[in-house]
Amino acid sequence: MTLTVGVLALQGGVAEHVKLLETLGVNTLLVKKPEELQRCDALVLPGGESTTIDRLTRIFGLRQPLIDAIGAGLPTLGTCAGLILLAKNLEGTAADQQTLGLLDVTVARNAFGSQIDSAEAELAWCQQETPLRAAFIRAPAITRTGPEVEVLATYRKKIVGVQEGKLLGISFHPELTGDTTVHRRLLELTTA
Ligand code: GLN
Repeated sequence: MTLTVGVLALQGGVAEHVKLLETLGVNTLLVKKPEELQRCDALVLPGGESTTIDRLTRIFGLRQPLIDAIGAGLPTLGTCAGLILLAKNLEGTAADQQTLGLLDVTVARNAFGSQIDSAEAELAWCQQETPLRAAFIRAPAITRTGPEVEVLATYRKKIVGVQEGKLLGISFHPELTGDTTVHRRLLELTTA
């Protein structure tokens, strides 16, 4: 049966993920309502502005349903602001910013400063021989990892890719360069 991958569609780079996922032969679903989560075999939390996405999850009544669905084992990939949303703890956060608190990491927002404001880069990914090509846009970095968290990628000596169980969190945007490595790993988690 064809997999259905939801993309949280409240704000941010939704269309780019949909386009990339379609090249992998899955069905995609724009998730704006709690009941849509039930139809997903996997989920992508896209990049954008994490404070805005946080606020919109609360306004759209999606905050608790997301916590429930992802907490129950829905394979989920958070990219950039999506990683921020998944994290247990944030550094330097806006006063009322909340996260879903599911991925046992601490994330520092905008950790690469202005020189990497909008850069494309190649980075090593797990044991893979070919580097991954991705864009960094006001990228966060992971500054603490819990005991169950596996580091998948570093860049400029900072952690930028992790996995904990069925959760993947990355600081960068492979969907902007068309690199399918991380999304393929997400699909693998549906059968793991
Ligand atoms: N810096 C943004 C934030 O804090 C994230 C940027 C991105 O998703 N590309 O939300």
